[in-house]
Amino acid sequence: MPNQQHIHCSVNNCHYWAQGNMCNANEIMVTSDTIADQLPDKIDAPKANQIQATPVSTCMDSCCKTFVPKGSGNINADGVFKK
Ligand code: SF4
Repeated sequence: MPNQQHIHCSVNNCHYWAQGNMCNANEIMVTSDTIADQLPDKIDAPKANQIQATPVSTCMDSCCKTFVPKGSGNINADGVFKK
């Protein structure tokens, strides 16, 4: 059965953001702010199975590590693509 999940996101300065507050990335990595700050750009959703578990206390401690600003030179650093 195909994955029918849709990711809604309002971060409209992200390379993967699309009209209607949709995320157009083929995959994303949500993790803790702390770990996202420590890991390099090349460690992202395609390498999710290499990232340790990162429990958080509130939603404010989590983030989308796949975010990359529109027009950034790093859009290919993480191995994530637009659908
Ligand atoms: S990659 Fe993350 S920040 Fe960017 S549009 Fe998708 S969910 Fe939002």
